[in-house]
Amino acid sequence: MPESAIIVSPAPRARVQAMKEYHPPLGSRDALRLDFNENTLACSPRVREALASISAGSLTRYPEREPVEAIVAAHLGLAADQVALTNGVDEAIHVLFETFLDTGDELLLPVPTYTMYEVYASSTDARAVAIQADGSLEFPFERLLAAISPQTKIIAIANPNSPSGTVATRAQMIELARRTPQAILLVDEAYFHFHGETLMDLVGVIPNLVVARTFSKAYGLAGLRLGLLAGPADTMKWIRRVLSPYSVNSLALACLPPALADTEYIDWYVGEVLAARSEFESALDALDLRRWPSRANFVLVDIGPRHAEFVRLMRAAGVLVRDRSSDPGCDGRVRITIGTREQMQHAIAALHRTTAALRSGKEPQ
Ligand code: PMP
Repeated sequence: MPESAIIVSPAPRARVQAMKEYHPPLGSRDALRLDFNENTLACSPRVREALASISAGSLTRYPEREPVEAIVAAHLGLAADQVALTNGVDEAIHVLFETFLDTGDELLLPVPTYTMYEVYASSTDARAVAIQADGSLEFPFERLLAAISPQTKIIAIANPNSPSGTVATRAQMIELARRTPQAILLVDEAYFHFHGETLMDLVGVIPNLVVARTFSKAYGLAGLRLGLLAGPADTMKWIRRVLSPYSVNSLALACLPPALADTEYIDWYVGEVLAARSEFESALDALDLRRWPSRANFVLVDIGPRHAEFVRLMRAAGVLVRDRSSDPGCDGRVRITIGTREQMQHAIAALHRTTAALRSGKEPQ
Protein backbone atom coordinates (compact mmCIF):
# COMPACT_ATOMS: atom_id res chain seq x y z
CA MET A 1 0.00 0.00 0.00
CA PRO A 2 1.48 3.40 -0.93
CA GLU A 3 2.26 5.55 2.13
CA SER A 4 -0.06 8.28 0.90
CA ALA A 5 -3.14 5.95 0.81
CA ILE A 6 -6.10 7.29 2.76
CA ILE A 7 -7.03 4.87 5.51
CA VAL A 8 -10.79 4.55 5.92
CA SER A 9 -11.94 2.78 9.05
CA PRO A 10 -14.74 0.21 8.65
CA ALA A 11 -18.22 1.69 9.09
CA PRO A 12 -20.40 0.33 11.89
CA ARG A 13 -24.09 -0.51 11.33
CA ALA A 14 -26.24 2.51 10.43
CA ARG A 15 -28.13 2.16 13.74
CA VAL A 16 -24.84 2.44 15.63
CA GLN A 17 -23.79 5.50 13.63
CA ALA A 18 -27.07 7.13 14.65
CA MET A 19 -26.57 6.33 18.37
CA LYS A 20 -25.91 9.20 20.74
CA GLU A 21 -22.74 9.02 22.80
CA TYR A 22 -23.41 8.47 26.47
CA HIS A 23 -20.80 9.39 29.08
CA PRO A 24 -21.98 9.15 32.68
CA PRO A 25 -20.74 12.32 34.40
CA LEU A 26 -18.37 10.48 36.76
CA GLY A 27 -14.85 11.86 37.31
CA SER A 28 -13.33 13.34 40.48
CA ARG A 29 -16.10 12.14 42.77
CA ASP A 30 -14.07 12.58 45.95
CA ALA A 31 -16.94 14.25 47.83
CA LEU A 32 -20.31 13.29 49.27
CA ARG A 33 -21.72 11.21 46.38
CA LEU A 34 -25.37 12.15 46.08
CA ASP A 35 -25.30 11.97 42.28
CA PHE A 36 -25.67 8.32 41.18
CA ASN A 37 -28.11 6.81 43.72
CA GLU A 38 -25.48 4.40 44.97
CA ASN A 39 -25.18 3.22 48.54
CA THR A 40 -23.22 6.17 49.96
CA LEU A 41 -21.38 4.26 52.65
CA ALA A 42 -20.15 0.68 52.26
CA CYS A 43 -21.36 -2.85 51.60
CA SER A 44 -21.92 -5.46 54.32
CA PRO A 45 -18.76 -6.38 56.28
CA ARG A 46 -19.50 -10.02 55.35
CA VAL A 47 -18.84 -9.12 51.71
CA ARG A 48 -15.49 -7.60 52.67
CA GLU A 49 -14.58 -10.85 54.43
CA ALA A 50 -15.56 -12.90 51.37
CA LEU A 51 -13.37 -10.67 49.18
CA ALA A 52 -10.42 -11.02 51.56
CA SER A 53 -10.63 -14.82 51.47
CA ILE A 54 -10.42 -15.14 47.68
CA SER A 55 -7.32 -17.14 46.75
CA ALA A 56 -4.99 -16.39 43.86
CA GLY A 57 -5.66 -19.91 42.58
CA SER A 58 -9.40 -19.37 42.40
CA LEU A 59 -8.85 -16.42 40.04
CA THR A 60 -7.30 -18.75 37.48
CA ARG A 61 -10.68 -20.41 36.91
CA TYR A 62 -13.54 -19.24 34.73
CA PRO A 63 -16.45 -18.06 36.85
CA GLU A 64 -19.25 -20.57 37.40
CA ARG A 65 -22.52 -18.72 37.78
CA GLU A 66 -25.07 -21.57 38.02
CA PRO A 67 -24.52 -22.50 41.71
CA VAL A 68 -24.89 -18.83 42.68
CA GLU A 69 -27.94 -18.43 40.46
CA ALA A 70 -29.52 -21.31 42.38
CA ILE A 71 -28.81 -19.54 45.71
CA VAL A 72 -30.24 -16.25 44.42
CA ALA A 73 -33.31 -17.98 42.98
CA ALA A 74 -33.99 -19.71 46.31
CA HIS A 75 -33.63 -16.34 48.08
CA LEU A 76 -36.27 -14.90 45.74
CA GLY A 77 -38.59 -17.90 46.02
CA LEU A 78 -38.00 -18.87 42.38
CA ALA A 79 -36.61 -21.85 40.48
CA ALA A 80 -32.99 -21.69 39.27
CA ASP A 81 -34.04 -21.68 35.61
CA GLN A 82 -36.08 -18.52 36.23
CA VAL A 83 -33.08 -16.38 37.23
CA ALA A 84 -30.06 -15.14 35.27
CA LEU A 85 -27.28 -13.15 36.91
CA THR A 86 -25.89 -10.28 34.84
CA ASN A 87 -23.06 -7.75 34.86
CA GLY A 88 -25.25 -5.11 36.48
CA VAL A 89 -28.83 -4.43 35.38
CA ASP A 90 -27.35 -2.54 32.44
CA GLU A 91 -26.25 -5.83 30.91
CA ALA A 92 -29.64 -7.34 31.74
CA ILE A 93 -31.42 -4.56 29.83
CA HIS A 94 -28.98 -4.79 26.93
CA VAL A 95 -29.32 -8.55 26.58
CA LEU A 96 -33.11 -8.52 27.00
CA PHE A 97 -33.42 -5.94 24.22
CA GLU A 98 -30.99 -7.80 21.95
CA THR A 99 -32.96 -11.00 22.52
CA PHE A 100 -36.43 -9.63 21.79
CA LEU A 101 -36.37 -6.36 19.83
CA ASP A 102 -36.53 -6.88 16.08
CA THR A 103 -37.12 -4.69 13.02
CA GLY A 104 -40.56 -3.09 13.25
CA ASP A 105 -40.94 -3.75 16.98
CA GLU A 106 -41.72 -1.01 19.48
CA LEU A 107 -40.34 -0.43 22.95
CA LEU A 108 -42.81 1.52 25.10
CA LEU A 109 -41.18 3.75 27.63
CA PRO A 110 -42.81 6.11 30.11
CA VAL A 111 -40.51 9.15 30.34
CA PRO A 112 -38.64 10.64 32.08
CA THR A 113 -36.99 7.37 33.08
CA TYR A 114 -33.66 5.56 33.30
CA THR A 115 -31.51 6.75 30.37
CA MET A 116 -30.02 3.39 29.39
CA TYR A 117 -33.32 1.92 28.12
CA GLU A 118 -33.22 4.33 25.21
CA VAL A 119 -29.48 3.89 24.71
CA TYR A 120 -29.72 0.09 24.42
CA ALA A 121 -32.88 0.27 22.31
CA SER A 122 -31.11 2.56 19.87
CA SER A 123 -28.60 -0.15 18.97
CA THR A 124 -31.45 -2.50 17.94
CA ASP A 125 -33.68 -2.21 14.88
CA ALA A 126 -36.76 -1.47 16.98
CA ARG A 127 -38.36 1.92 17.63
CA ALA A 128 -38.51 3.45 21.11
CA VAL A 129 -41.88 5.11 21.79
CA ALA A 130 -41.60 7.58 24.67
CA ILE A 131 -44.76 8.27 26.68
CA GLN A 132 -44.41 11.57 28.50
CA ALA A 133 -45.60 11.86 32.11
CA ASP A 134 -47.45 15.05 33.03
CA GLY A 135 -46.14 17.66 35.49
CA SER A 136 -46.93 15.43 38.48
CA LEU A 137 -44.43 12.89 37.03
CA GLU A 138 -46.88 10.20 38.10
CA PHE A 139 -46.83 6.95 36.15
CA PRO A 140 -48.64 7.75 32.84
CA PHE A 141 -50.78 4.61 32.98
CA GLU A 142 -53.67 5.74 30.75
CA ARG A 143 -51.30 7.17 28.12
CA LEU A 144 -49.29 3.94 28.09
CA LEU A 145 -52.43 1.86 27.61
CA ALA A 146 -53.42 4.11 24.71
CA ALA A 147 -49.98 3.70 23.10
CA ILE A 148 -50.06 -0.12 23.01
CA SER A 149 -50.02 -1.44 19.44
CA PRO A 150 -49.58 -4.86 17.80
CA GLN A 151 -45.91 -3.84 17.36
CA THR A 152 -45.36 -3.35 21.10
CA LYS A 153 -42.67 -5.87 22.05
CA ILE A 154 -41.29 -4.61 25.36
CA ILE A 155 -42.68 -2.19 27.92
CA ALA A 156 -39.90 -1.02 30.25
CA ILE A 157 -40.93 0.33 33.64
CA ALA A 158 -38.53 1.37 36.37
CA ASN A 159 -40.43 0.95 39.62
CA PRO A 160 -39.72 3.14 41.55
CA ASN A 161 -38.84 5.31 38.58
CA SER A 162 -35.71 7.41 38.23
CA PRO A 163 -35.30 10.39 38.28
CA SER A 164 -38.81 11.03 39.63
CA GLY A 165 -39.00 8.51 42.49
CA THR A 166 -42.68 7.93 41.65
CA VAL A 167 -44.22 4.46 41.33
CA ALA A 168 -46.63 2.37 39.29
CA THR A 169 -49.13 0.29 41.25
CA ARG A 170 -49.22 -3.49 41.19
CA ALA A 171 -52.69 -3.38 39.60
CA GLN A 172 -51.48 -1.05 36.83
CA MET A 173 -48.55 -3.28 35.94
CA ILE A 174 -50.67 -6.44 35.99
CA GLU A 175 -53.15 -4.72 33.67
CA LEU A 176 -50.36 -3.65 31.29
CA ALA A 177 -49.05 -7.23 31.12
CA ARG A 178 -52.58 -8.52 30.47
CA ARG A 179 -53.17 -6.00 27.68
CA THR A 180 -49.90 -6.87 25.85
CA PRO A 181 -49.63 -10.66 25.69
CA GLN A 182 -47.34 -10.27 22.64
CA ALA A 183 -44.85 -8.18 24.65
CA ILE A 184 -42.51 -8.49 27.63
CA LEU A 185 -43.30 -6.29 30.58
CA LEU A 186 -39.92 -5.43 32.11
CA VAL A 187 -40.26 -4.18 35.68
CA ASP A 188 -36.90 -2.81 36.79
CA GLU A 189 -36.88 -2.96 40.59
CA ALA A 190 -33.45 -1.36 41.03
CA TYR A 191 -34.77 0.63 44.02
CA PHE A 192 -36.96 -2.17 45.43
CA HIS A 193 -35.53 -2.12 48.95
CA PHE A 194 -36.52 1.49 49.52
CA HIS A 195 -40.06 0.90 48.20
CA GLY A 196 -40.79 -2.52 49.64
CA GLU A 197 -43.28 -3.53 46.92
CA THR A 198 -42.45 -6.07 44.25
CA LEU A 199 -43.83 -8.16 41.40
CA MET A 200 -41.24 -10.89 41.99
CA ASP A 201 -43.95 -13.18 43.39
CA LEU A 202 -45.67 -13.04 39.97
CA VAL A 203 -42.62 -14.21 38.01
CA GLY A 204 -43.66 -17.43 36.25
CA VAL A 205 -47.31 -16.67 37.08
CA ILE A 206 -47.73 -13.80 34.60
CA PRO A 207 -46.29 -15.36 31.41
CA ASN A 208 -44.84 -12.13 29.96
CA LEU A 209 -43.42 -10.58 33.15
CA VAL A 210 -39.66 -10.12 33.59
CA VAL A 211 -38.30 -8.45 36.73
CA ALA A 212 -34.83 -6.90 37.06
CA ARG A 213 -32.93 -6.23 40.30
CA THR A 214 -29.55 -4.68 40.97
CA PHE A 215 -26.97 -5.05 43.73
CA SER A 216 -25.66 -1.54 43.02
CA LYS A 217 -28.06 0.35 45.27
CA ALA A 218 -29.04 -0.91 48.75
CA TYR A 219 -26.38 -3.67 48.72
CA GLY A 220 -23.60 -1.20 47.95
CA LEU A 221 -21.92 -3.28 45.24
CA ALA A 222 -22.03 -0.93 42.22
CA GLY A 223 -18.31 -1.47 41.62
CA LEU A 224 -18.70 -5.26 41.40
CA ARG A 225 -21.41 -4.99 38.68
CA LEU A 226 -24.14 -7.40 39.71
CA GLY A 227 -27.72 -7.53 38.54
CA LEU A 228 -30.31 -10.11 37.64
CA LEU A 229 -33.26 -10.88 35.42
CA ALA A 230 -36.09 -13.09 36.64
CA GLY A 231 -38.73 -14.44 34.29
CA PRO A 232 -40.49 -17.59 33.13
CA ALA A 233 -38.02 -20.39 32.27
CA ASP A 234 -39.27 -20.36 28.65
CA THR A 235 -38.28 -16.70 28.32
CA MET A 236 -35.03 -16.99 30.25
CA LYS A 237 -33.75 -19.77 27.98
CA TRP A 238 -33.62 -17.30 25.04
CA ILE A 239 -31.98 -14.63 27.15
CA ARG A 240 -29.31 -17.13 28.22
CA ARG A 241 -28.44 -17.79 24.57
CA VAL A 242 -27.47 -14.14 24.14
CA LEU A 243 -25.89 -13.63 27.57
CA SER A 244 -22.15 -14.24 27.88
CA PRO A 245 -21.61 -17.23 30.21
CA TYR A 246 -18.75 -15.37 31.93
CA SER A 247 -20.02 -11.80 32.21
CA VAL A 248 -20.40 -12.02 35.99
CA ASN A 249 -16.88 -12.39 37.34
CA SER A 250 -15.81 -14.70 40.15
CA LEU A 251 -15.24 -11.92 42.71
CA ALA A 252 -18.83 -10.77 42.24
CA LEU A 253 -20.12 -14.35 42.43
CA ALA A 254 -18.20 -14.96 45.67
CA CYS A 255 -19.70 -11.85 47.23
CA LEU A 256 -23.33 -12.50 46.36
CA PRO A 257 -24.24 -15.22 48.89
CA PRO A 258 -22.85 -13.29 51.91
CA ALA A 259 -24.50 -10.09 50.63
CA LEU A 260 -27.88 -11.83 50.44
CA ALA A 261 -27.43 -13.52 53.80
CA ASP A 262 -26.74 -10.28 55.67
CA THR A 263 -30.35 -9.10 55.79
CA GLU A 264 -29.56 -7.23 59.01
CA TYR A 265 -27.19 -4.96 57.12
CA ILE A 266 -29.75 -4.20 54.37
CA ASP A 267 -32.47 -3.53 56.95
CA TRP A 268 -30.15 -1.13 58.77
CA TYR A 269 -29.08 0.73 55.61
CA VAL A 270 -32.61 1.04 54.23
CA GLY A 271 -33.92 2.23 57.63
CA GLU A 272 -31.18 4.84 57.75
CA VAL A 273 -31.99 6.10 54.22
CA LEU A 274 -35.73 6.28 54.84
CA ALA A 275 -35.23 8.29 58.04
CA ALA A 276 -32.75 10.56 56.27
CA ARG A 277 -35.14 10.99 53.33
CA SER A 278 -37.92 12.28 55.49
CA GLU A 279 -35.57 14.72 57.28
CA PHE A 280 -34.21 15.91 53.94
CA GLU A 281 -37.72 16.34 52.52
CA SER A 282 -38.64 18.49 55.52
CA ALA A 283 -35.57 20.65 54.86
CA LEU A 284 -36.60 21.06 51.20
CA ASP A 285 -40.14 22.00 52.25
CA ALA A 286 -38.84 24.55 54.76
CA LEU A 287 -36.86 26.15 51.93
CA ASP A 288 -39.95 26.18 49.70
CA LEU A 289 -38.28 23.99 47.10
CA ARG A 290 -40.73 21.92 45.10
CA ARG A 291 -40.06 18.18 45.21
CA TRP A 292 -41.73 15.02 43.99
CA PRO A 293 -42.86 12.30 46.41
CA SER A 294 -40.18 9.62 46.29
CA ARG A 295 -40.27 5.92 47.12
CA ALA A 296 -36.55 5.51 46.37
CA ASN A 297 -33.16 6.60 47.77
CA PHE A 298 -33.27 9.97 45.99
CA VAL A 299 -35.45 13.03 45.63
CA LEU A 300 -36.07 15.13 42.53
CA VAL A 301 -36.07 18.85 43.32
CA ASP A 302 -37.17 21.82 41.21
CA ILE A 303 -34.31 24.31 41.34
CA GLY A 304 -35.46 26.38 38.35
CA PRO A 305 -33.41 28.22 35.72
CA ARG A 306 -30.27 28.35 37.89
CA HIS A 307 -29.95 24.57 38.15
CA ALA A 308 -26.41 24.44 36.73
CA GLU A 309 -25.20 27.03 39.23
CA PHE A 310 -26.91 25.11 42.03
CA VAL A 311 -25.04 21.93 41.07
CA ARG A 312 -21.75 23.87 40.87
CA LEU A 313 -22.23 25.51 44.28
CA MET A 314 -23.23 22.22 45.92
CA ARG A 315 -20.08 20.64 44.47
CA ALA A 316 -18.02 23.53 45.85
CA ALA A 317 -19.64 22.75 49.23
CA GLY A 318 -18.49 19.12 48.90
CA VAL A 319 -21.80 17.57 47.78
CA LEU A 320 -22.29 16.00 44.34
CA VAL A 321 -25.84 16.12 42.98
CA ARG A 322 -27.19 15.31 39.52
CA ASP A 323 -28.65 17.83 37.10
CA ARG A 324 -31.57 16.12 35.31
CA SER A 325 -32.55 19.21 33.31
CA SER A 326 -32.04 17.49 29.98
CA ASP A 327 -34.45 14.66 30.85
CA PRO A 328 -37.83 15.04 29.10
CA GLY A 329 -40.11 17.28 31.18
CA CYS A 330 -37.40 17.92 33.81
CA ASP A 331 -36.07 21.36 32.96
CA GLY A 332 -34.55 22.96 36.07
CA ARG A 333 -34.70 19.77 38.13
CA VAL A 334 -31.90 18.23 40.12
CA ARG A 335 -31.85 14.72 41.60
CA ILE A 336 -30.32 14.30 45.03
CA THR A 337 -29.44 10.83 46.37
CA ILE A 338 -30.27 10.11 50.00
CA GLY A 339 -27.43 8.75 52.13
CA THR A 340 -27.21 8.23 55.88
CA ARG A 341 -28.75 10.69 58.33
CA GLU A 342 -25.33 12.07 59.22
CA GLN A 343 -24.40 12.56 55.57
CA MET A 344 -27.72 14.23 54.84
CA GLN A 345 -27.13 16.72 57.68
CA HIS A 346 -24.05 17.84 55.71
CA ALA A 347 -26.16 17.95 52.56
CA ILE A 348 -28.79 20.07 54.33
CA ALA A 349 -26.12 22.53 55.50
CA ALA A 350 -24.77 22.76 51.92
CA LEU A 351 -28.31 23.18 50.62
CA HIS A 352 -28.94 26.10 53.00
CA ARG A 353 -25.73 27.86 51.98
CA THR A 354 -26.35 27.23 48.28
CA THR A 355 -29.97 28.40 48.21
CA ALA A 356 -29.06 31.47 50.30
CA ALA A 357 -26.30 32.32 47.80
CA LEU A 358 -28.60 31.80 44.80
CA ARG A 359 -31.36 33.89 46.38
CA SER A 360 -29.04 36.75 47.42
CA GLY A 361 -27.03 36.66 44.20
CA LYS A 362 -23.79 36.39 46.22
CA GLU A 363 -21.28 33.53 46.25
CA PRO A 364 -21.18 31.72 49.62
CA GLN A 365 -18.26 32.72 51.88
N1 PMP B 1 -32.15 0.58 36.51
C1 PMP B 1 -32.36 1.76 37.08
C2 PMP B 1 -33.76 2.27 37.19
C3 PMP B 1 -31.28 2.52 37.57
O1 PMP B 1 -31.48 3.72 38.11
C4 PMP B 1 -29.97 1.99 37.46
C5 PMP B 1 -28.75 2.70 37.99
N2 PMP B 1 -28.65 4.01 37.92
C6 PMP B 1 -29.80 0.78 36.84
C7 PMP B 1 -30.90 0.09 36.39
C8 PMP B 1 -28.44 0.20 36.60
O2 PMP B 1 -28.04 -0.63 37.60
P1 PMP B 1 -26.69 -1.43 37.52
O3 PMP B 1 -25.67 -0.68 38.30
O4 PMP B 1 -27.03 -2.75 38.12
O5 PMP B 1 -26.30 -1.57 36.08
